[in-house]
Amino acid sequence: MLRIENLQKNFGAVKALRDASLKLEKGEIRALLGANGSGKSTLVKVLSGLNRKDGGRIFLNETDIQISSPAVSKKYGIAMAYQDLSLIPELSLEENLVLGSEPGTSWGSLRKNQIREYAEKMIEVLGIQAAPDTQVKEMDLSNQGLAEVAKAMYTKPQILILDEITASMHHDQVERLFTYLKREREKGMSILYVSHRFEEVYAFCETATILRGGISVKEVCLKETAPDRLVYYMTGEETKRE
Ligand code: ADP
Ligand code: MG
Repeated sequence: MLRIENLQKNFGAVKALRDASLKLEKGEIRALLGANGSGKSTLVKVLSGLNRKDGGRIFLNETDIQISSPAVSKKYGIAMAYQDLSLIPELSLEENLVLGSEPGTSWGSLRKNQIREYAEKMIEVLGIQAAPDTQVKEMDLSNQGLAEVAKAMYTKPQILILDEITASMHHDQVERLFTYLKREREKGMSILYVSHRFEEVYAFCETATILRGGISVKEVCLKETAPDRLVYYMTGEETKRE
């Protein structure tokens, strides 16, 4: 469904992505793994239109596409929730959920009801500790993380990207989130899951792509790959055995 080939991205002299490739099938949950600075966030920001690529190609259903802005990414059915939250603290939870997806202040009362319903549904499903009209700045970071996911899901994406989204969440919140997302995957959504938490990756993902120094060095099936192998692919070094 999604195929990235030889992706390159430079920040001045820094080659954040040198040769990154990745495939994501419909309904697949794939982890994107790599040490700090290996280019994971840079790669997903290219997909979400926040970074412009300097080289390489992106195919969506065999069509070569250019993701020139976040709006274009959204149009292709890609949504991202990330650790540096995109929420506006002064706005309410429900206003944030539709931010960038709705025309703005001129919502009719029908739209308002639908937005309220969506907010209530997501509060229930994800266990967000807030009301639809709670200001986001009154919510703790774990609940803001959940709100970030709810915001991404509002666009009904074909491809959901999560970049270190569970960083501030409790174990129970993460479990509930995974249960919800696995159900959405059953309906055909694909997920690219960026994380450095192996426990979560093994619990949630089926496959993994490993980045090292901006290069995709390995694709694995997680069922057949032990954690020490993942460390080896990430670092290029064997872990020492006692
Ligand atoms: P990861 O998410 O795997 O930790 P990043 O993609 O954030 O890695 O970063 C990859 C490399 O690109 C790092 O060396 C980082 O410092 C650099 N980098 C990322 N974003 C920028 C930016 N906006 N400007 C300059 N350098 C950047
Ligand atoms: Mg990152």
